[in-house]
Amino acid sequence: MRYIITSAVATLLALPAQAEVPRVVTDFAPAAGLVATVMGDLGQPEMLLGQGANAHDFQLRPSQSASLQDADLVVWIGPRMSPWLDRVLTGFGDLRQMRLLDVPGTHLQDFGDTAAHDHDHDHDPAPAGDDHDDHDDHAHEGLDPHAWLDPSNGALWLDAIATELARLDPDHAADYAANAARGRAEIAAADARIAARLGPVQGQPFVVFHDAYGYFAAHYGLTVAGSVSLGDATAPGAAHLRALQDQAGASARCLFPETVHDPKLLVQMAETTGLRLGGALDPEGMAQGGGAGAYTGTLEALADTLAACLSGA
Ligand SMILES: [Zn+2]
Repeated sequence: MRYIITSAVATLLALPAQAEVPRVVTDFAPAAGLVATVMGDLGQPEMLLGQGANAHDFQLRPSQSASLQDADLVVWIGPRMSPWLDRVLTGFGDLRQMRLLDVPGTHLQDFGDTAAHDHDHDHDPAPAGDDHDDHDDHAHEGLDPHAWLDPSNGALWLDAIATELARLDPDHAADYAANAARGRAEIAAADARIAARLGPVQGQPFVVFHDAYGYFAAHYGLTVAGSVSLGDATAPGAAHLRALQDQAGASARCLFPETVHDPKLLVQMAETTGLRLGGALDPEGMAQGGGAGAYTGTLEALADTLAACLSGA
């Protein structure tokens, strides 16, 4: 023990000040998992949102604000996902931030790009001032921010995070690059496992609580028949619920609540429609912690929950 302490002190004295590993703050599990993977043994990012938090709508505690202000780098999905964090960061002015949705090459798609093909209303991109009112809410239109659910984006972001960390901490550039490469291999392995798990249930339509699964569905060939909440964290209107029950109730196999939201509405809907009630989905990975396995863990948990219900006899 004494030897370790002595050698640690000697190391500290020998290293120039700029060799310090950056203090990184992240929004929630997928970004935290990717950053933790790239940092490896060098450090651990902080994560603002834990279990039970809603990534679309959140209020920071004062201690979290203070911690954000001290960060060398904030890695987060972006304002389309968490407008509340955008407001906070704007207030802080010159914080160095990396918005993952803005990383060049990111696969982006609009809400509705992979919605069920048997919807009887059209899914053309809504022009400004559109007046069709089969929904009473517009938050689900335009760019879908849940892009971490496409594993090719996760792999791309690992490299971007390694590049950014190397810029802040050039002494460890080789470590960051090697960790990112290892992380890409882990994502590729998880992707293969998930594809194998979901292959047998491709094309089995299901209903979800909120419109978060477009990327996941597109990547793995799944069919989302509809969402109870059209936007994010907005209460569904009665007309929308009736339409969903009529449309999806006839074709869908399962109905999935979400960990962050009260399942009451979906339990009722399952009773009304006779759809099977699946386990709670956790698209933001709130149950995953913020360690290096949080990114692939988020995707694998989704696949397991989906497959468990959809493959039921
Ligand atoms: Zn969401």
